[in-house]
Amino acid sequence: MMKKITLFILLCFTFSNVVISQNKNHQNKYEMSKQKVNKTEKEWKDILSDEEYRVLRQKGTEYPHTGKYNLHFENGVYNCNGCKTSLFKSDQKFETNCGWPSFDEAIEGTIKYVEDYSHNMIRTEIVCVKCDGHLGHVFNDGPTETGLRYCVNSVSIDFKKDPNKK
Ligand SMILES: [Zn+2]
Repeated sequence: MMKKITLFILLCFTFSNVVISQNKNHQNKYEMSKQKVNKTEKEWKDILSDEEYRVLRQKGTEYPHTGKYNLHFENGVYNCNGCKTSLFKSDQKFETNCGWPSFDEAIEGTIKYVEDYSHNMIRTEIVCVKCDGHLGHVFNDGPTETGLRYCVNSVSIDFKKDPNKK
């Protein structure tokens, strides 16, 4: 009887360890989604401009070559314009003539990828993992070694300069 109990306890312990290590792997994602930003449409309208609301909340697209970060190359970080989560670093941005700010990578765990079949195309939409704000799309035609091009609307992001760099 004692043996059985010992075995049971041992099994429980092993199992809980497995669960803990699995949780650790997913902790980052879990931490991010745990702090999800949920606002009503009215609350979003109150804090966003009409154009920001149209793009971030209604999946709109800004006109190419018009966004303020299209040709912007200062050192710093680009935050989500809805919830201020840091999404991209300036060293992940590259110059392109596609008309929108483009990045070859995002800060890990900050982006949610959604299949998008609108406009008779198959694309991967990118949204902020915290507030579900629409950022743009990601394509497989990037020129750097990641091979990715995160094509982002300027109005979806907010740049904060790195005070330590010029
Ligand atoms: Zn956000």
